[in-house]
Amino acid sequence: MPENFATIAYIVAAALFILSLSGLGHPDTARRGNMMGIAGMLIALLATAMAKDFMGYGMLAAALIPATIIGAFLANRVKMTEMPQLVALLHSFVGAAAVLVGFATLLGPHAEMSEAEHLIHNIEVYIGVCIGAVTFTGSIIAFAKLHGMIGGKPLILPARHLFNLMLLVVSIWIAVMFVQAVDAENITRAIWLLVIASVITGVLGVHMVMAIGGADMPVVVSMLNSYSGWAAAAAGFMLSNDLLIIVGALVGSSGAILSYIMCKGMNRSFVSVILGGFGAAEGTAVAVDGQHTEIDVAKTVELMCNAKSIVIVPGYGMAVAQAQHTLSEITKELEAIGVSVRFAIHPIAGRLPGHMNVLLAEAKVSYDIVLEMDEINPDLPNTDLVLVIGANDIVNPSALDDPASPIAGMPVLEVWKAKDVIVMKRSMASGYAGIGNPLFFKDNTQMLFGDAKKNVDAILTAYRSR
Ligand code: NDP
Repeated sequence: MPENFATIAYIVAAALFILSLSGLGHPDTARRGNMMGIAGMLIALLATAMAKDFMGYGMLAAALIPATIIGAFLANRVKMTEMPQLVALLHSFVGAAAVLVGFATLLGPHAEMSEAEHLIHNIEVYIGVCIGAVTFTGSIIAFAKLHGMIGGKPLILPARHLFNLMLLVVSIWIAVMFVQAVDAENITRAIWLLVIASVITGVLGVHMVMAIGGADMPVVVSMLNSYSGWAAAAAGFMLSNDLLIIVGALVGSSGAILSYIMCKGMNRSFVSVILGGFGAAEGTAVAVDGQHTEIDVAKTVELMCNAKSIVIVPGYGMAVAQAQHTLSEITKELEAIGVSVRFAIHPIAGRLPGHMNVLLAEAKVSYDIVLEMDEINPDLPNTDLVLVIGANDIVNPSALDDPASPIAGMPVLEVWKAKDVIVMKRSMASGYAGIGNPLFFKDNTQMLFGDAKKNVDAILTAYRSR
């Protein structure tokens, strides 16, 4: 393919990626956004494969065919609730790719460069490998935490900030030695220095994510998303591939914006999350004692029929139980008899940004009745009944009442201000943050124990046979 065709193809692909991101910003246009992203990626792939001097068709096929099969298999098999760990794992691949590209660039043939260009190129390689290594190990730890292979409790080493600082300073020192070694054409020394730098920054990635408490994991997921973008952009610089730089920058900056939104939703400063600071020291399980009241399905239906306004708060348990479709049915039934039903979404509900919105959209719940936390909180004191379905941390009053709580200061859905609250979950167990919830012991709260899907199915059946 002539070079100017390749350039045009890259520009079209870049435009499609930008349109894809803007499409993904709203549920109405998300499907179209997704299709644009797929089209952009196909064009990019074809343009790369058809480039004038591209020879490695065998290699491309060897990488692409098994990867496509594995990817399609995983995407088909993975449950919606396991999506966060899959995303974390995919971020780790980007990090690993950046590290490998860095080594390959160092070992491969070089284009003619001026001295200044050579210096910049070597710095690019070094930074790319370091960002890649942090992303790789950090994402593996995030995967293990989200998959429950490692507990959510933060690892607090003595003098941990000093340790991080030391790793950073040593990496900078090695960077200087690396550039000198490449300049002196001592490639063996350069490779060893790059290996040491990968290990050091890899340890930094492990330590950084290990030190972050369960409640702060949403920020970690979006932060690693951002890192994976910068790692891809770094790989783009190393390979002199403009499209990879653009795509990496788009992912990197959108991940950074998402991290900011998550921090705002949790009332955390980004720096304190990264340093594992806020609430981390107290991040052990905090139990709450009291007497809870139970309710059964029949009484739940009675309360629902007597209510004029109902707010449903979905959480991770709704995703596990896959209760959204029945909830959508119940919503339609209640609306048909004039009850106002709305859904309240906390920005960190579930295990992925937008997790609840995706599930409710899948169940065809109208977007008009799905409200953000800031929109619904002022209305909760005028609400007759709140149904909390598999949610826990996002409705925990200790975030506001208890300054010693690991989630102190995090805005939550203030459901206890409603007239009645019914919490549907299987037990009195804590949520992801591992802390007790005083909501369960409030006078106006009743617990409906059991699997959320079984309970909402029973509610629908009981409602229809009234
Ligand atoms: P939580 O994890 O706080 O609570 C979920 C509750 O669902 C549990 O207490 C559990 O109680 C219940 N549950 C589980 N399975 C079922 C089931 N089958 N039927 C009924 N109930 C069930 O979830 P929230 O959505 O309230 O809060 C999200 C948490 O996840 C926050 O701590 C957040 O920081 C964290 N997080 C969020 C991410 C994001 O991007 N959104 C990413 C990473 C972490 P029981 O076992 O008794 O049934």
